[in-house]
Amino acid sequence: MVEYIVYRLGGLLEADDKLSVMGLSSAGELPPEDMELYNCASTVLRKFGVEGRHSVGAAVRTRSGKLYAALDLRSRKSAICAEPGAISAAHSAGDYELEAIIAVCRSRDGSRLIPISPCGSCRELIHYHQPECRVLFEYDGSVVNVKAAELFRFPLIQV
Ligand SMILES: [Zn+2]
Repeated sequence: MVEYIVYRLGGLLEADDKLSVMGLSSAGELPPEDMELYNCASTVLRKFGVEGRHSVGAAVRTRSGKLYAALDLRSRKSAICAEPGAISAAHSAGDYELEAIIAVCRSRDGSRLIPISPCGSCRELIHYHQPECRVLFEYDGSVVNVKAAELFRFPLIQV
């Protein structure tokens, strides 16, 4: 049995200044700690992402409550996802207990940042380091919160 939480989209967000600033117009009713994680990943992408070099921002929250963020790295011939960078940043601070992770990329029209499901390599990586880590991503119109150990039940989604 898959244990996951689905946050339905819609409602409520127009009244929240923080959310409208971050451009999350349809990503639902996340609990504050997960909203903070989303905002952290969004901020690193919006603030430091360079067109042509970066297209994804990721943030991980550890059991200590700290957040670590990273960008993906792209060149003409290779690419490294953002999630390993965020995990490595946590590990590099001696903070190993991963609690939740999220990665975001721009929607096609650029109007918002979408929580995306990890690629196969990142799924394996997250699971290897913390099978209980929660992974948040948009799926079928909702933000899903699922343990890394259960990620393989969800298809890879092209945004
Ligand atoms: Zn990946």
